[in-house]
Amino acid sequence: RSVAIVIGTRPELVKVAHLVRILGPAAHLVHTGQHYDAALSGRFLTELGLPEPTLLDGVGGKPRAVQVSAALAQLDALFAERPPLAVVVQGDTNAALAGALAANARSIPLVHVEAGLRSHDRAMPEEHNRVVIDQLADVLCAATDDNRDLLRAESVPAGRITVTGNTVVEAVHEHLPAAGERAALLAAYGVTADRYVLATAHRPENTDDPAALAAILRELASLAAELPVLFTVHPRTRARIEAAGLTHLLAPLTELAPLGYGEFLALARHAAVIVSDSGGVQEETTVLGRPLVVVRRSTERPEAMAAGFAELVAPGREIGRAVRRRLAAGPAGLRSLAERPSPFGDGLASQRIAVLLAAVAAGRAGHEPD
Ligand code: UDP
Repeated sequence: RSVAIVIGTRPELVKVAHLVRILGPAAHLVHTGQHYDAALSGRFLTELGLPEPTLLDGVGGKPRAVQVSAALAQLDALFAERPPLAVVVQGDTNAALAGALAANARSIPLVHVEAGLRSHDRAMPEEHNRVVIDQLADVLCAATDDNRDLLRAESVPAGRITVTGNTVVEAVHEHLPAAGERAALLAAYGVTADRYVLATAHRPENTDDPAALAAILRELASLAAELPVLFTVHPRTRARIEAAGLTHLLAPLTELAPLGYGEFLALARHAAVIVSDSGGVQEETTVLGRPLVVVRRSTERPEAMAAGFAELVAPGREIGRAVRRRLAAGPAGLRSLAERPSPFGDGLASQRIAVLLAAVAAGRAGHEPD
């Protein structure tokens, strides 16, 4: 019997890859198809060295409730036919919620990787997913002490929680290309280390509100008058820019299709500043030691701010101001960040999670009364 690892999006693939490799044939990767296009998923499976997953049907592009219910029904059938020893879900996506509910329905021990994140922003669907998954989970792998404390504050019994660190740390260490390869890549993009901005944006609060989207693009365009701005454009963002008639604001930027993981890390490693609304990028930039401007209303990863790597700004003039402050800090500013440890762990999280899973598989943990 295997351990089912249920994923559905790019960041989940990144964060379970090392664990899947440790587990080897004991891992059964199930992809709900939440984001299953070549740019966001197919190439990541290959690049991250993952096995071909079992792919579910009729989930991608659907409203949230349909995504969860379609994935849940198919996972239930799969778990009935081939009962896993445990189900692992990562993060806060609809795929993770469906995996958690499916495990719960069949009394299969549920392991939640990246437990205890809270934005306290109830307008975010992910916040609801996090709370529900953490209440259902039998084994909660918290990335930081703060994540553990948040779980304890919600009355999750201490015996269910282990502080493992975040698996993104080992993902960055493994997939960041070597210095020579990075230099060749920067040359291919026509940029110089420490003298360009790298930007991403894909969250609905930024892309689905034309005023916010326009404000972000205007700020990036204004920065592009001073230094190159590389903007990797998520497919949903591209569609929203076109629908809102904002394509002209892309002209001053260097627009890039979604990048492979190694390539993205290489560009982030040498960017003077990164501007992003991504969750994973908030963690990765602390491992890479680079400054980040987070364009969001709230964050569930305050550790990156507290450690001085990131600041949170609303879409608008504050983006340009925050980027220019970081640029003004110059090489000394970059050096001081490079020397700081990441608050997200030591690169051994996946190994700790594998040990917890071995205990669950041996019937020594999970799903028993507290
Ligand atoms: N990423 C990537 N290529 C890109 C942009 C991002 O590989 O062009 C990676 C990034 O390093 C991070 C993940 O995609 O690991 C983040 O995914 P996303 O922003 O879609 O989700 P979130 O982290 O916000 O849940």
